[in-house]
Amino acid sequence: MNNHLVSREEAALALDLFEEFINEQSFQLILQCHDRICELLKIRPSVFLDFYPALKKSLNNWKANTLWSKLDKRAQQKVYEGGRACSGKKVLIIGAGPCGLRSAIEAQLLGAKVVVIEKRNDFSRNNVLHIWPFVIKDLMHLGVKIFFGKFCVGSINHISIRQLQYVLLKVALCLGVEVHSGVSLEGLVPPDVDDPDAGWKACIQPEDHPVSQFEFDMIIGANGKRAVFDGFKRKEFRGKLAIAITANFVNNRSEQEACVEEISGVAFIFNQKFFNDMCEQTGIDLENIVYYKDDTHYFVMTAKKHSLLWRNVLHNDYPDTQTLLAPENINREALYEYALEAAMFATNYQLPEDIAFAYNHHGEPDVAMFDFTSMFASENACRIVERNGKQLLMALVGDGLLEPFWPTGSGCARGFLGCFDACYMLKRWASGEKTPLEVIAERESIYRLLAQTTSENLCKDLASYTLDPRTRYPNSNSRKVLPIHVRHLYDTDRPE
Ligand code: FAD
Repeated sequence: MNNHLVSREEAALALDLFEEFINEQSFQLILQCHDRICELLKIRPSVFLDFYPALKKSLNNWKANTLWSKLDKRAQQKVYEGGRACSGKKVLIIGAGPCGLRSAIEAQLLGAKVVVIEKRNDFSRNNVLHIWPFVIKDLMHLGVKIFFGKFCVGSINHISIRQLQYVLLKVALCLGVEVHSGVSLEGLVPPDVDDPDAGWKACIQPEDHPVSQFEFDMIIGANGKRAVFDGFKRKEFRGKLAIAITANFVNNRSEQEACVEEISGVAFIFNQKFFNDMCEQTGIDLENIVYYKDDTHYFVMTAKKHSLLWRNVLHNDYPDTQTLLAPENINREALYEYALEAAMFATNYQLPEDIAFAYNHHGEPDVAMFDFTSMFASENACRIVERNGKQLLMALVGDGLLEPFWPTGSGCARGFLGCFDACYMLKRWASGEKTPLEVIAERESIYRLLAQTTSENLCKDLASYTLDPRTRYPNSNSRKVLPIHVRHLYDTDRPE
């Protein structure tokens, strides 16, 4: 890729557009802005070494240079082998949630050709995520402050899902990742038996989208908690009935709002008086509540069933949670009242009296109620399928791999660790030094650690984290699972 034919005017225009790109707050507009920059600079999303140096060379001002110095530092980590560790490998990533985009960044830095497809056309989730210290450090190293100056300036560390997606999307695009919106995975197409050069392809919607012609060696399922591939059995963990409510209110950033204190997580067992008083005064009975002041005023709480019935949020009591929380059994107006009153009580009525709900992507007040009695984890983190001499490395990351329990704030943290582990597996596989079964066994050994991680038991030197699991997990044992244990995860049509 070269861009020596760019005129001064084109370069100046691209720099102006880069400023827009940095500030843009819409999935579509970010993609469009990036397209126009690429057009002006006569470059196209490609592998890291073909794209990033050309972009960097053309865009010079203090902001761009600050970003380049951060990304250069990351790219220089030994593990990426100068952007050549996975040269020639092609990766398709399903989903542009935080974990799909975080995986895309790593696979791109390893030198693979990376394509992300996202079925939605916008990022609309207001919900705010509490993040662990290593995630903050990680985002800082990727230049989050250039894109979102207000990152972690409050008393509690958090970021809205939407904002996190914008930041990661922008970083991924700057590195050369190809991202397509409104494109959904429907299935996999094995290599054509009549064509010895054919590789694995995806069956997607819309059918005639160019991505349907993309041939890839690895596919990463980052599509949230719903299973997208065959071959990944899910284990269910059932706890006692747990009903969560999230509510987002408009943050007008007034002086009054600025004074309201955030709540990092008040659980019944730690502050029984607070919850008893709330129940006595309002009839709202909660097990815990969290409040973060971010782009919105965000509340998440676990409500007790009897109080939802008493306040008429639920019309009828049913033993089966699905019927209990079915839309027909929910009185939305009563739910809004419940969420508003809980928010007001919890903040000591300091929020403005006329505070309004933020809206969700359906144009309705952004209040949701859902069941998290059951949580799922995949039994395996990866598998390899071989057809017609072509191996496909399949991996899950994020909620699809291990669904988090929201009160621990572990979603993005364990999510990102899983992304790093999946990309490390890509590197090991690409090196050709290990057999497919050895690669799978190593990945599954590391996966055994994930559910036990806490922000306290990870390696303390956060600045030294790399894709190599040994830099992150203090007791990593890559031989816990042996190749003999994972034969079922290597599905080949090759005769023995
Ligand atoms: P998602 O964010 O779900 O992204 C998946 C993406 O894939 C979506 O954009 C979707 O549109 C797309 N997609 C789906 N199917 C397809 C397809 N077939 N083709 C193409 N695209 C597809 N985590 C924290 O770290 N801290 C917290 O404080 C926290 N609080 C939470 C509170 C609540 C109430 C809940 C429910 C969750 C909370 N979490 C928290 C968890 C956190 O939201 C998730 O862990 C995180 O969003 C997972 O990211 P992901 O990329 O795996 O999946």
